[in-house]
Amino acid sequence: MLKTHSCGELRLENIGEEVTLAGWVNRSRDMGGVIFIDLRDRNGKTQVVVNSGDVPQSFELAQQVRSEYVLQVKGTVQKRPEGLDNPKLETGEIEVMVSEVNVLNPAKTPPFLIDRDEVVDESLRLKYRYLDLRRERMQRNLIIRHKAIKFIRDYLDERDFLEIETPILFKSTPEGARDYLVPSRVHPGKFYALPQSPQQLKQLLMVGGYERYFQIARCFRDEDLRADRQPEFTQLDMEMSFVERDDILDLIEGLVLGMVEHTSLVPAASDSIPRLSYAEAMARFGTDRPDIRYGLELVDLSDIAGASAFKVFTSNVAAGHPVKAICVPGCGDYSRKQIDELEKIAKDNGAKGLAWMALNPDSGEMRGFITKFFTVEQLIALTERLDAKPGDLLLFASDKKNVVAAVLGALRDEFGYRLGYKDKKELAFTWVIDFPLFEEDMEEGHWAPSHHMFTAPKREHIDLLDSDPGQVLSEQYDLVCNGYEVAGGSIRIHERPLQRKIMELIGFSIEEAKDQFGHMLEAFEYGAPPHGGIAPGIDRLVALMAGEPNIREVMAFPKTAQATDLMSDSPSFVAERQLNDLHIKLAEPQKK
Ligand code: ASP
Repeated sequence: MLKTHSCGELRLENIGEEVTLAGWVNRSRDMGGVIFIDLRDRNGKTQVVVNSGDVPQSFELAQQVRSEYVLQVKGTVQKRPEGLDNPKLETGEIEVMVSEVNVLNPAKTPPFLIDRDEVVDESLRLKYRYLDLRRERMQRNLIIRHKAIKFIRDYLDERDFLEIETPILFKSTPEGARDYLVPSRVHPGKFYALPQSPQQLKQLLMVGGYERYFQIARCFRDEDLRADRQPEFTQLDMEMSFVERDDILDLIEGLVLGMVEHTSLVPAASDSIPRLSYAEAMARFGTDRPDIRYGLELVDLSDIAGASAFKVFTSNVAAGHPVKAICVPGCGDYSRKQIDELEKIAKDNGAKGLAWMALNPDSGEMRGFITKFFTVEQLIALTERLDAKPGDLLLFASDKKNVVAAVLGALRDEFGYRLGYKDKKELAFTWVIDFPLFEEDMEEGHWAPSHHMFTAPKREHIDLLDSDPGQVLSEQYDLVCNGYEVAGGSIRIHERPLQRKIMELIGFSIEEAKDQFGHMLEAFEYGAPPHGGIAPGIDRLVALMAGEPNIREVMAFPKTAQATDLMSDSPSFVAERQLNDLHIKLAEPQKK
């Protein structure tokens, strides 16, 4: 080894020891006759002292050393002189008096400062990711990630799970996104698909009798990218046989809360995870991934508003649609311009407009165009139900149920940021259960699965598959934290006829089903055990535990929001010869 100790481990008890350290120059200060260098590696920093009188040759070398040079230093550990301790450093009570300095490699001036936590343009960080990875923040995050994954492995190993790898070159497994395809050289015109998740394979492992499987699995989805999505990401993929829903929820609750306790910088909000039905989540929070760190809940006012003289409300209520509102504390003095901004959010989420009322902070008097359509009694009833106080702002939505949820859910989210509720440093987990089996709106005359097509309907709802599929609830469950879906899973279908029936409702012909999923349907005929599973997203969980707003901050080499790697400049063109090998002709000219 080129070092005897890391740069983070020497303490008072090492005083007098001869040591060798190696690392990067974090900073160097020439005090005339003495040079102080902070030497850094991923374990920390140690101050080394080069004295011109003691080691003139090394001193000369040290004078030429700049930030990010790679050095090896030999020397003796000594206590820092009285009053010169640095309490900010774990090694701050000692320093190393240098006997020899070796420059292992010089360095160009980096494009940004490594040793300071200042804001650097993200594209520059991604282009020089190997330098960005040297910064404390990234090292802290990747250490948390490592610890989290280690905790997961230990926890599951103790509970008799086997870690089993599944192929990356496989066949399309739909999870609702586009596949990444890999052309086959040996089978012209044929393609592998990169797994959107190992869903089919883990179910087949259950048919294979493995009973408890997990994998830290890479998943690939070619989706329209949003700021917090990545084309490839990591899941803890799991499956268990002979279980019911609550077995999985209990196991994951212990896993997630244990992992947070052991590795998270942000504490869990409680020591158990509450359960909400999908219907309740939508009714109270307007979303199936509620941030429950704050209230601001949606309140149903259909009865009061339906009896008012405001046409929009009364006609909607007559048509069976709800009128709901949220009461935003302290925003009753919003100006017309501020309300217009809110109206834009409402319209972006499907509303035709935004009805509002504001309570004067002193008098409690109410303003807002719609107020005049309500009697005094109705206004009192409404403010009572909303628990509205002087100074509050009331925002209404009335439309189809899902539009009302989307509009008020988005406004609730907006005020979560504006009023600082989302700054609260805690991880508020909740389960969402009892999802509908299918999405509300049919696509091209077919039902779309709300999770995926392998999710089992609730036993007691199977009859409804023929009469009223939209009413069927499923065995799906999602784990939500601070407004993010951090895991999704379900009890699966394990009988061929039921699986075939669901495929039919989704719009697969017999031929299509056999062509794409024949192996699954066949496997179900050979004694498939009842089974279920879940897949927590590692990237999001680690980001939450590290207090990071973005999953890119917890991935070593993430892609940009446009799915590019700025460091290696990928995706990139390939040579004509490679395309020929793969029997591919580009429709677009390869180069301009
Ligand atoms: N394969 C699912 C997903 O990636 C998770 C699961 O059902 O286990 O969302």
